[in-house]
Amino acid sequence: MAWGGGWGGGAMFAGRGTATGLPFGGIPSELADEAQRLLASEPDHPPSAIHFHQRPDEVERRPLTLARMLRAYPRLVVYGSLLVIVTSLLLQAGPLLTEYAINNGMLPGHRSMGVVVACASLYLLLAVLSAYAQRVGATVTGTLASRIMHDLRIRVFTHFQRLSLDFFGDEKAGVLMSRMTSDIENLQQLIQDGISSFALQGLTMVVITVVLFSLDATLAAWTVLGVVPLLVAFSIWFHRASETGYLLSRDRIANVLADLSESLYGIRVVTAHNRQRRNITNHRHVVGAYRDANLYTGRVNAIYGPATIMIGILGQALLLGIGGERVLRHQLSLGALVAFLLYLNRFFQPIQLLVQQYSSLQQGRSSVTRLRQLLATPPSVEEAPDARDLPTVEGRLTFERVSFGYDPSRPVLEDVDLEIAPGESVAFVGPTGAGKSTLAKLANRFYDPTAGRVLIDGVDVRDVTLRSLRSQLGVVPQEPFLFAGTIRHNLKFGRAGITDAEVTEAVDVVGLGELVERLPDGLDTVVHERGQTLSSGERQLLALARAFLARPRVLILDEATSSLDLASETVIERALDRLLEGRSAILIAHRLTTAQRADRIVVIDGGGVKEVGTPAQLRERGGAYAAMYDAWLASGGRDATR
Ligand code: ATP
Repeated sequence: MAWGGGWGGGAMFAGRGTATGLPFGGIPSELADEAQRLLASEPDHPPSAIHFHQRPDEVERRPLTLARMLRAYPRLVVYGSLLVIVTSLLLQAGPLLTEYAINNGMLPGHRSMGVVVACASLYLLLAVLSAYAQRVGATVTGTLASRIMHDLRIRVFTHFQRLSLDFFGDEKAGVLMSRMTSDIENLQQLIQDGISSFALQGLTMVVITVVLFSLDATLAAWTVLGVVPLLVAFSIWFHRASETGYLLSRDRIANVLADLSESLYGIRVVTAHNRQRRNITNHRHVVGAYRDANLYTGRVNAIYGPATIMIGILGQALLLGIGGERVLRHQLSLGALVAFLLYLNRFFQPIQLLVQQYSSLQQGRSSVTRLRQLLATPPSVEEAPDARDLPTVEGRLTFERVSFGYDPSRPVLEDVDLEIAPGESVAFVGPTGAGKSTLAKLANRFYDPTAGRVLIDGVDVRDVTLRSLRSQLGVVPQEPFLFAGTIRHNLKFGRAGITDAEVTEAVDVVGLGELVERLPDGLDTVVHERGQTLSSGERQLLALARAFLARPRVLILDEATSSLDLASETVIERALDRLLEGRSAILIAHRLTTAQRADRIVVIDGGGVKEVGTPAQLRERGGAYAAMYDAWLASGGRDATR
């Protein structure tokens, strides 16, 4: 990277300097050369062009298989395979050279120092060559694995971005994290070491079998038919037992991770409810179950390792007996017997390695299966293939005989009819769990209704692209989410191309100016832990400012349930007034002061719309809303009509 070019150079240091309040004085000259050298050795990371489409393209739609992943890099695969073949041939030449050196350089009548030295030198040369081939092979498979994993991580992440909200509700975050971590790592392991080592061991066995039979068919038959089946049978037992252990430990580590992530995310609730002891007991339980699974695997390994060594020694004794007898009878040369004994060890090694690595192959394969299933999960809210962009809307929202249930057998909403005019603000009120948020979530297609239609400016929301729909429908959720980064970065989140001047304006409009002034670095203050260091009122104001900057045509505001002090409430109400100017809005109101400010109120209860009207009409009607309102006044609520 060129010195000072882009943010990687001076700008990065300058940024740090500003953040700590110190002026940037440049890199000291004695360090400049060092820094220059360091940066020159840095690989270039040009910004990659990201094309995100709601609908996966032809390539992304194909099921994920190991072969397809490998096929994306044909040159590396061919190069890697050639290296495996060369390595396996080079590695197996040693015993043959030993045989030649004994028979033609050491036995009485054939003594020759020249032959011995030539064989030893060649042996050494081939060993060096095979080490080099293995090194290059490891680099090739390492590169292949890194590239495939990079593609896969992006593919899985892109898929997460496409999936609908119900998926994230059903699946535990820990399980999804383990898809991204352990499953992808298993696969990396498989591609980096597993496949090439499997191929190398398999090929080695073939090469050795051919060589053994060409040396002496009888002794080869004893080896292949007598010793190998014993080892294979034992190895199959091992494989089954270790697979059981692997499946157990995989399931149990998933439980450990899920329990861990839940405890960490919920640490505030845990502390507040004094649940630490019970949490530890629970975690001890899941960790204990994981330990038991590991102990089982350890026991199986402890049996298999020593037993295979025993079989190896038995095999050598057998070969020494039978082979020695054949040497004495002049049916076999001494060199060939030594070569046999050397090959026997080499024969055992691949079998053991193949069996040991079988579980990693198995892990890799089941990881591919799980990732394939994940990638094949379609989003429940899919964009129609012929979806068109929604032109700029006026903001008329229509719910037409809408029914919906998260679980289709348990409807939350039934036959809801409602129309919201352009520019009109409508408050949804009703008991908790009545379906207010749910109805709002159908408008921007977080979910699709099980029956009926939702229309925006007369267009079914299912007929337009999700991007164009959601860019015109702003959502302020009940629990505003703040990302790691500065406040400015969080505010600019809603739309591309927001300028700093717009951010400053938004901060003034929603009344955040005072907060920003109080913060150490103003808008560039870094938000930690999803904004837990800010008050809930401040987080709500930030969410309102974010929505203001996104300039949606229709606003859906899920009001926070937590009550605020009067001063904060006044600031938020003022911010809301500015935000709602000229916009259609759904206000899921938990405070009746908010409901009272809306043009109309919709009472949602028992899965449907119970009452609709202006605040004054509903109060006069003496129905559910009037009762709610009276109860609220009686409990000390401010009369918003005064
Ligand atoms: P509140 O005033 O407490 O926010 P609400 O009227 O907005 O309540 P909703 O959040 O719409 O209620 O929930 C309606 C019903 O649907 C509730 O019974 C709730 O338990 C259920 N529900 C909400 N979200 C989900 C979900 N993701 N999966 C399954 N059920 C859900």
